[in-house]
Amino acid sequence: MSHANVHLFDADLGDTNLKHLLGGKGAGLTTMTRLGIPVPPGFTITTEVCVDFLANGGSYPDGLEAEVAASLASVEGQVGRRLGDASAPLMVSVRSGARVSMPGMMDTILNLGLNDETVKGLAQQSGDPRFAYDAYRRLLQMYGDVVMGVDHARYEEVLGQLKKEQGDARMLDKDLSPEALQELVKRYQAMIESEAGKPFPQDVQEQLWGAIGAVFRSWDNERAIRYRKMQGIAHRWGTACTVQAMVFGNMGETSGSGVAFTRNPSTGEKILYGEYLANAQGEDVVAGIRTPVALTAAAAAPGHEDRTLERRQPDVFAEIVGHCAALEAHFGDMQDVEFTVEQGKAYVLQTRTGKRTGRAAVRIAVELVAEGVVTPEQALTRVEPGSLEQLLHARLPTPDELLAKGVKPLASGLPASPGAATGAIVFDADEAEAQAKEGKTVLLVRRETSPEDIHGMKAAVGVVTATGGMTSHAAVVARGLGKCCVAGVGAFDVDYRKRQLRVVVGGETRTFGEGDVLSLDGSHGKVYAGALDVVAAATIPELDQLMTWADESRRLKVRANTDTPAGARTARSYGAEGIGLCRTEHMFFADERLEAVRCMVLADGEEGRNHWLDVIAPMQRGDFEAIFRAMDGLPAALRLLDWPLHEFLPKTADEIASVARALGDSADAVRARAEAMHEVNPMLGHRAVRVGLTFPAIYRMQVRAILEAALAVAGEGVTVHPEIMIPVVGLAKELEAMRAIAEAEAERVFADAGTRIAYQIGTMIELPRACLVAHQLAQHAEFFSFGTNDLTQTTFGISRDDAGRFLPTYVDDLELLSADPFARLDEEGVGALIRIAVEGGRGTREGLKLGVCGEHGGDPASIDFCERAGLDYVSCSPPRLPIARLAAAQAALRRRD
Ligand code: PEP
Ligand code: MG
Repeated sequence: MSHANVHLFDADLGDTNLKHLLGGKGAGLTTMTRLGIPVPPGFTITTEVCVDFLANGGSYPDGLEAEVAASLASVEGQVGRRLGDASAPLMVSVRSGARVSMPGMMDTILNLGLNDETVKGLAQQSGDPRFAYDAYRRLLQMYGDVVMGVDHARYEEVLGQLKKEQGDARMLDKDLSPEALQELVKRYQAMIESEAGKPFPQDVQEQLWGAIGAVFRSWDNERAIRYRKMQGIAHRWGTACTVQAMVFGNMGETSGSGVAFTRNPSTGEKILYGEYLANAQGEDVVAGIRTPVALTAAAAAPGHEDRTLERRQPDVFAEIVGHCAALEAHFGDMQDVEFTVEQGKAYVLQTRTGKRTGRAAVRIAVELVAEGVVTPEQALTRVEPGSLEQLLHARLPTPDELLAKGVKPLASGLPASPGAATGAIVFDADEAEAQAKEGKTVLLVRRETSPEDIHGMKAAVGVVTATGGMTSHAAVVARGLGKCCVAGVGAFDVDYRKRQLRVVVGGETRTFGEGDVLSLDGSHGKVYAGALDVVAAATIPELDQLMTWADESRRLKVRANTDTPAGARTARSYGAEGIGLCRTEHMFFADERLEAVRCMVLADGEEGRNHWLDVIAPMQRGDFEAIFRAMDGLPAALRLLDWPLHEFLPKTADEIASVARALGDSADAVRARAEAMHEVNPMLGHRAVRVGLTFPAIYRMQVRAILEAALAVAGEGVTVHPEIMIPVVGLAKELEAMRAIAEAEAERVFADAGTRIAYQIGTMIELPRACLVAHQLAQHAEFFSFGTNDLTQTTFGISRDDAGRFLPTYVDDLELLSADPFARLDEEGVGALIRIAVEGGRGTREGLKLGVCGEHGGDPASIDFCERAGLDYVSCSPPRLPIARLAAAQAALRRRD
């Protein structure tokens, strides 16, 4: 490599993509340094070195050592201390940092540069031997674990033993005397040597290179790989390694560490929001072991105002406020800022785009526009479409509402991630995952969570922890996953061994075991015993504004999949511009209709079938009328019967007897007919247009019901745009024949009524063959609607209903697919077929209307494909409409870039 592999924080890298080269952490420190924010000096080794290092079996590019040495010398010059110099020892942190944040997934080492000599220098210089030996034992602990592979539990054992010898096994770390810490350092060293087979290195250069290697290697540790898979982060990016002079938040009461969000990450409100721990290192805040205090007096728990940084050190607080404002203005987005105060001097250690709830994302985006910081188009890109789902999350009644009903919370904690959930409790992540796989709804109960727990958090419907604050691992990860979370429930005593949760309520201890049910209110930080009813969430006012901008930016139209008038009304309220799919067979399944449908299917001969169709027809017409009224002015695609007749056959003896009675036939005769209609593989059998052609009376009835309903409501002054949609077509001849039948029936309806109405006939595209002959199909269709559920099923030859048995293994373990193709459209295969169909269809019929109505119509990545493929609309379930509108806008903006 000809260019530099190591960059000091004040380096001017021009228009290089800093995040790609230096990782998010290195990029942030470099940008902050150049903005004049006080950052402890340091340098970053690039992600390219990591990629190289891992590819070349752990060897570094030529000249790296010299570059590191020169950069270190520069840092030493700025700080006035030197690594390994006992008279003025420099200590550094060595941290990982990829181009996107992977919280807690990779390794970090602090206090590097301490050894048996420099620790004495530090003790003397700081005048605080306790502090010096505490720093040293932390280094031993981290270095021994991360670089030398000595399990962290071993340190706990040594520490526990020492405390016991000191006479109090339960004493806090901070109460250990300097002498005890000195002893601890000795014991840690002995333990490391015996466990690792070699001593902790006294040579500071060896320490440094050991740490750098460990950081690079941690890119490929198991939990980082798992996290990348979950988040879709590329394995080839690598991590950067940042080496930075240490500052100490644990140098007494005028020191401390904190985290500040420039806005409230739960609600989006524009107030500085954060937490602070006096006399503590940053790790203590994030690890959730001690529960920190709010930064501001306004946010502090009653009685704790004087413990806030705002009250304790107003000048330092004011400085932090200034830095936060500068950082937010620079990045044009809410920031998550980590800072440390060392004996009254504030340093910013890290800034990054703050993770936030969907609700906060929307509010912040809209307010940033109002403040003139970003444009509406930029605001649209600030909200991850999937995060809107949280807005539509269920919630519990408020604590006051519940109290009014006599329901008291079992315990309270911090409202770490909003939403609500009821579930059976489990105490470890593997158990959560296992039970969720069995279809159980579980809540994960932990003392605190760590990165190893992510799969369990994902599997659980909610998370509750006994310790930790709003920025603890549990809180941050739960918010990212959109899971509700209550953190820091002080009354919880979690016993992993007994798998028990003990809660002290009013002097009395209540015990809960695995499987017992609790309810969480993540918005208010409450935990309730037993199951509670959840209520649907209300939307927030800023969402309307964001949606208006989205609607102005998008090209794709957005429709809804819905079968009921109520669904159609909801869809309109969520912004639907029509119905993209009304599955009419759902109308057949209402209790009182099912029997008539069964009789129609099993009637002996055409006459009997027609009789039952006449019974069903008025019901269908009524349904269609109601839907047309609800969709006044908007198009509605009504799909003719799609299901295999097989699905409607009676199964139990009672059902058969009942149908036989209605038909005036013997039960044996009905059973015999039902058996004759049985299919081995109904989804690939007698269904959809195949039924329409072999039993044309059924489709005729439906066409008549649709058009009579359209005429009737048009007479009331409603504007109707019926689109009759034929499913599972594979042959142009099928469509041609079906269209002729439908048109003939339409003409009869119009003749009977003495008036006409405009309508369209189109086809669903659900079979690979249909894509390949789309140019022929378009001769007989005014529109195509891609049924990507069936198209995925038939393209892959994977049954929609059985895919769950092995697809997760394909995706998660074997990595044969990057996502479940039934959730995210497979562009390579299914997408290629769609492109063929688009070209063929439009080649025959200019202006052919094209849409997607499979589940993919609500998936942001699939919507992006629909934009690129030039479709006209996507159709999805009503609650996903806001997601689809935003995703469509983002897709359009991306194409414009
Ligand atoms: C489809 O196949 O994508 C579709 C929308 O139809 P259904 O899911 O009803 O088969
Ligand atoms: Mg289908």
